[in-house]
Order: sequence, then structure tokens, then C-alpha cells
Amino acid sequence: MTGRGVVIAGGGPTGLMLAGELALAGIEVVIVERRSSQDLDGSRAGGLHSRTIEVLDQRGIAGRFLAEGQTHPFVGYAGTFLDISDFPTRHNYILALWQSRIEPILAGWVDELGVPILREREVVGFTQDDSGVDVELDDGSLRGEYLVGCDGGRSLVRKTAGIDFPGWDPSSSYMIAEVEMGEEPEIGMRPEGGGIGPVNREEGGGPYGVVLLEKRVEHASEPTLQDLSEALIAAYGTDFGVHSPTWISRFTDMTRQAASYREGRVLLSGDAAHVHGPQGGQGLNTGVQDAVNLGWKLAQVVHGTSPESLLDTYHAERHPIGARVLHNTMAQVALSRIDERSRALRDTMLEVLSMDEPRKRIAGMISGLDIHYDLGEGHPLLGRRMPDLDLDTADGPMRVFTLLHDARPVLLNLGEPGGFDISPWANRVRWVDARHDGVWELPVLGEIAVPPAVLIRPDGYVAWAGELTDPTLPDALAYWFGAATSV
Ligand SMILES: Cc1cc2nc3c(=O)[nH]c(=O)nc-3n(C[C@H](O)[C@H](O)[C@H](O)COP(=O)(O)OP(=O)(O)OC[C@H]3O[C@@H](n4cnc5c(N)ncnc54)[C@H](O)[C@@H]3O)c2cc1C
Repeated sequence: MTGRGVVIAGGGPTGLMLAGELALAGIEVVIVERRSSQDLDGSRAGGLHSRTIEVLDQRGIAGRFLAEGQTHPFVGYAGTFLDISDFPTRHNYILALWQSRIEPILAGWVDELGVPILREREVVGFTQDDSGVDVELDDGSLRGEYLVGCDGGRSLVRKTAGIDFPGWDPSSSYMIAEVEMGEEPEIGMRPEGGGIGPVNREEGGGPYGVVLLEKRVEHASEPTLQDLSEALIAAYGTDFGVHSPTWISRFTDMTRQAASYREGRVLLSGDAAHVHGPQGGQGLNTGVQDAVNLGWKLAQVVHGTSPESLLDTYHAERHPIGARVLHNTMAQVALSRIDERSRALRDTMLEVLSMDEPRKRIAGMISGLDIHYDLGEGHPLLGRRMPDLDLDTADGPMRVFTLLHDARPVLLNLGEPGGFDISPWANRVRWVDARHDGVWELPVLGEIAVPPAVLIRPDGYVAWAGELTDPTLPDALAYWFGAATSV
């Protein structure tokens, strides 16, 4: 590390995704990771939502994940399933794939991009000055222009930066385990959340994943096989002959969010910035999408093409999204309680969700397809995900997402070729003349008017949409991708 570039603390899903994004943008980046390998002690997150699969598709790597998981045309919400097969996206499903598989696939991609991962090393502190950050490791130090804490919920980076982590203490605790069982267990979800299922979803049978609501929230020690056996008997009347655990742990619905995602040259992403209950399976997905929002912005600031203020848009855009995830997981916790009043509330909610409009609203949120960054007034696409349209271009048929594989911004002209002088931004923004026949439909919003031209950010969100003659286009180009340069 030359002192330029970015140090990432933590090589979980968020840190890996961020490293890939920075490497694609030509930034020198290094990951410091405590674990000796990408192996996890348990399965943890169970899948990818539509928008996450889309952002991976934007980089040309979605197929690697799809090849290893199973797709299901719904999202989970408060113990029920909401159909998303009518959503206008190529990925109108969840991909069931354990985090223990997701991480190695991401790590493989990061490795191809040449990012070094310093394993069995720990970030133990840092100090920042006007030009960079000195990052202290357990056995040395590194200097980078920026440090990003992707170091999980107990983030040392967040604590050392003095960033508050306000929120709510846990109201419930779950035991989670991977075990063998002497008898065939009762497979399926339980109304209060959790349940039992095969770890190898396609093959069925053992080993089994078990998640069980616990009676107490506070615990002084890690759970044991004896604790698990007792919890199974309390829930099912038998422990199904449980034995040979490979993983027994706990998680809670503790709900907290960093007050700021940035403190000078230090930024936070993923669980380091937000923790919440696992309801709806949104944690990993939110972290990966944080990384995709931050990567290109940080790259432009490090390259010197954009001012540091561009980094403030990271907090402005992603903090509200994180807050929304915290809010909906808290609602799901409340809806999952098993007292009679909570059950009545859940039944009422399920009735509402059986109607089309509420289903689309909630499923749009859980899947991440409805994300709308507040970029001001304008075309309905502004701040929303660019749909993956089939285009006709001079190079033949092409999908919009293919244009985003190298993580560069695109000015897509769907009108007559030409009509705007892109040369002052041509070293940063790719100009594409294309035609598209057919309507545009957005999840939740429905059909929208086709704009003559669209400025697409590297993260796939629309920075501007309108006529090429619109005087706001040069402003948008300069705001997002740096000042015009003379050619
Ligand atoms: C039981 C359970 C079920 C879940 N289910 C889902 C689900 O279905 N869907 C979903 O989206 N999410 C789910 N999650 C959440 C998901 O696992 C997390 O949101 C996700 O792992 C966050 O990724 P991350 O990279 O931000 O943080 P982490 O995965 O926590 O990674 C942080 C990394 O930083 C490393 N590290 C920490 N401190 C340091 C340091 N000082 N120096 C160097 N390295 C350090 C750690 O070793 C780790 O590799 C679940 C979580 C649990 C516990």
C-alpha cells in the first residue's frame, strides 16, 4: 500500500463487494480480515433479494450465484410469503443461497480483480489527518487515503471514530444451530419465527439448521448442546435426538444504526452501520448495496475527479434506506409475537397483504426494488433503479446491465444519434446511442413515460433523465462525475 487508495477493515460480504467496486474503478485497495479463510462457522444469511441480484448482474457476476442456489418467486415477510413473480425485473425471485457460499463466490471475484486480503490480521486502531488515515494493525500499520469500516456489528472502526450507534436493545433472542438429529424432525417455519430445515436444501435430510425463540433475552454465556436440547423439548416436546453440532450460536433483534456513515476520511458500511433482526433476510443485502453505492463515489474522490462532498451523498442516500430496514424488521418482530393480540394484528396484516397494492408495496421494499434516492424533482426515474432494458445498439443487441459491467457511468441516448457534446466528460462517461421498443415498467410504480435520454450512475441508479437539450444535463454530469475538462 503506497498511502494512496483505500483500506477496508473486514472481508465479509460488504467489504468484499466494496473492494470489487473500488478495484474495478482502478483504485488501490486492501482488505484487512481477522478470519484465516472465507469459511464461516455457520450458514448465517440465507439468500439474496432481487435488487442485490440485479447489482451483481450489473457487474456480470450474477450467474455465479444463480448457478449455486435455488430461486423462489416470493419474499418472506413476518412469517408469510409475498409473491413477486409479477415484478418487472429479470430477477423476480429470491435466491436461496447460504452466506457460507455467497462469501467464497465474492472472494473469488475480488481475487480475480487482484485485491490483496491480509488474513489473520486485525485493525486495532487508527488516526486520521488532512491527507489520509494511519491504520494500526495487530502486527504493523498501513496508510490509506480513506478507511472503510466493513467490520460488522461490533465495529471497532465505528467505535474508534466516535460515531454514535443509537437504537433499541433486543426484545427477543434466538438460538441458531447446525446439527444432526437421530429422528426425522418437524420441518418448516414456526409462527413465532424460526423452525427447522435441511442445511442442504436440495438434498434434504441432515444436517439440519435450527432456529428457536428463547425465553430469555439476556445470556451470560454461549449456548450449549444441552441448552439446544432443552429448547427443542420446550418447543416440540422432543429434541429429535439432536447431536453432533457444528455450530450453535445466538442472534437477537437488537436494532441500531450509526448516527453518521462518515467521519472525515472514515466511512462505515454494512453491519458496521446498521444492525437489526434477521426478519425478511435484509442484512447482507443492505450491506452489499451500501458498498455499491459507496464504491464509485469513493473512487472518484480518490481519483480527484470529484470533490469530497460527493461522499456526503452516501450518507444522505443510504442512511434512510438503512433506517427503513430497521423500521420494517421491528414491525416484523412485533407481528411475530405469539400473544393473542399480536396474532390478531398479524391476521389483519396478512389480510391486507393479500391485496395487490399492499403486497407490491411491502414486497417492493423487502426486495429492494423500490429504492428511491431523493435526487429532487424530475422524471419518475430520477433516483430509481434503471430497468435492464433490451437495447438495439450499433454493436448489436445489448442489455442495459451489460453496459454497466465496468462500473462506469453511461449516458444512454434513446433518440436520434448525437445531439449533445459529451467530449468534456468523455474520459469518464460512456455515451451510448440505442433504441428500445416497448414500455418501461417499474416495480410498484408501474408503467412510466420513456425519457429521450438517461444518465445512469455506476450503481445503476438514474442521475438524470430528459431531453439532451435540457440545460440541466451539464449540471448533472458535473455534479455526479466531476467538472467538464477541456479536450
Ligand atoms: C443468524 C443470522 C441470520 C441471518 N440471516 C440473514 C438473511 O437471511 N439475509 C440477510 O441479508 N442477512 C442475514 N443476516 C445478516 C448477515 O449475516 C449480515 O448482515 C452480514 O454478514 C453483514 O455483512 P458485513 O460484511 O457487513 O459484516 P460481517 O459479515 O459481520 O463481516 C465483518 C467482517 O469483519 C471482520 N472483522 C471484524 N472486526 C475486524 C477487525 N477489527 N479487523 C479485521 N477484521 C475484522 C470479521 O471477521 C468479518 O469477516 C443474518 C445474520 C445472522 C446472525
